[in-house]
Amino acid sequence: MTDIAGGAGVMDGAPQSIREYRMYIGGEWVDARSGATFESTNPYSGEVWASAPDGAQADVDAAVAAARTAFRSGPWSEMTGAQRAARMRALAEILVRDAELLGEVETRDNGKLLREMSGQTAYLPEWYYYFAGLADKLEGEAIPSDRPNFFAYTRHEPVGVVGAIIPWNSPLLLLTWKLAPGLAAGCTFVVKPSDYTPISALEFAKRFEEAGFPSGVFNVVTGYGPSVGKALTAHPGVSKVAFTGSTATGIDVGRAALGNLTRFSLELGGKSAQLVFEDADLDAAASGVIAGVFAATGQTCIAGSRLLVHDSVHDDLVRRIVERARTIKLGDPLLADTEMGPVANRAQFDRVVGFLDEAASAGATVACGGSQHPELGGLFVQPTVVTDVQPDMRIAREEIFGPVLSVMRFGTEDEAIAMANDSAYGLAGGVWTQNVHRAHRVAHRLEAGTVWINAYRIVAPNVPFGGVKMSGLGRESGIQAVREYTETKAVWVELSGQTRDPFTLG
Ligand code: NDP
Repeated sequence: MTDIAGGAGVMDGAPQSIREYRMYIGGEWVDARSGATFESTNPYSGEVWASAPDGAQADVDAAVAAARTAFRSGPWSEMTGAQRAARMRALAEILVRDAELLGEVETRDNGKLLREMSGQTAYLPEWYYYFAGLADKLEGEAIPSDRPNFFAYTRHEPVGVVGAIIPWNSPLLLLTWKLAPGLAAGCTFVVKPSDYTPISALEFAKRFEEAGFPSGVFNVVTGYGPSVGKALTAHPGVSKVAFTGSTATGIDVGRAALGNLTRFSLELGGKSAQLVFEDADLDAAASGVIAGVFAATGQTCIAGSRLLVHDSVHDDLVRRIVERARTIKLGDPLLADTEMGPVANRAQFDRVVGFLDEAASAGATVACGGSQHPELGGLFVQPTVVTDVQPDMRIAREEIFGPVLSVMRFGTEDEAIAMANDSAYGLAGGVWTQNVHRAHRVAHRLEAGTVWINAYRIVAPNVPFGGVKMSGLGRESGIQAVREYTETKAVWVELSGQTRDPFTLG
């Protein structure tokens, strides 16, 4: 396997030969059983820069077997929480060291800004430190018995092998949200990254190995969703599926998992609303709206893609947003002063442009942008603000996953809340107001897993994240995330030492 961290090929932006990777199963770097490979293309340059094994059922079987062995026997299964925590902290130190390099790998794969991706990779260690701190605190309860001579207590035991399926938009962050609590609980993992972004999980696996985890605790099988993803989701040896991606695929994943009664958590799409009231600080709101929908080229599940704005400040706010959107610097995502990169792949580009074409013909007004970038071409879409959007238009209802803001007006607080909640999704929302009563009142009434007040797009290891409605099931981050990776066992103890009547319950 090419060793990017080994210094041989630190990325410098110059044309390079294709880097050939192997996948990581049971502590070994291996090819797919079939020998097949697939390529990863840099969305900015359009060049193939790496290749990875194209896995299939047999590779998933091998990875799940390795993860089960590591879970049931061997050093990992015998480690205390404190010992697991020590490995996690060692991993965090390595991630601190290599954050910039891992960020570059992600940018090469998905075209998002290096600023964004290395910002994410620099933050990853905090999840491992945070959950390492919980690994030795998975305390059960001693439960007073309702009858004499019994005592009961609970244990929180790791669920087993976790199948983690991650998307292309923020691969290592979304992997970490699953892995850090799962390791703290004592689980083992088989990870399937998106075929658009297979490389960072493999680079991550090298750091995992270096941190001294026993073999089989972490495995990566690269390949396509309908082959590797499906095989992993439906595998009887997997005890939990942790998925981030689209709602449609998430539903398929849930159905497949249910076939084995495998538990699952789903972090899915969104159509999050930013509500700007008449008393908001409009400069701050404009900046928050830009952050919500144009940062990361809008390719984030929490994109604030619907702007609901009070009639009285509509024109003023739209003017500010459009002025800033027009000055957003598009270009090479590896350059420090670039503010927006291309969308991640051709399918995504076609999807975004398709929405724009349809909105224009449905009667919405394109206030800025609206198409492919005229000079940059390729996969670059202009930052786009669409006004006069009606709540029943597709652009107001479906997740676009691109740099497109749909603007709608409201007259009253009740109307704003009704519009915000008139969505199949419920991932996040933003409230912009200087009235403290309204801020909390509205936050409580929004149907969303996260609400930011006078801010947008902030996450942290200790704050739960997840969606309601079609945005998902379960929560990642925060103390209770560890519980998503444990089963509760009740243990009853008879205290009298006497033989009991076999025909009486209890
Ligand atoms: P998907 O939901 O299809 O992909 C997410 C992950 O699931 C990928 O690793 C994918 O693999 C895998 N996968 C695909 N099919 C299956 C399957 N049948 N069983 C198990 N795993 C599977 O997202 P797309 O990449 O197709 O993106 C489409 C849309 O999804 C975007 O436009 C956006 O709206 C939304 N999306 C939302 C994300 C979020 O963070 N909530 C993240 C990504 C996308 P592979 O990529 O190899 O096919």
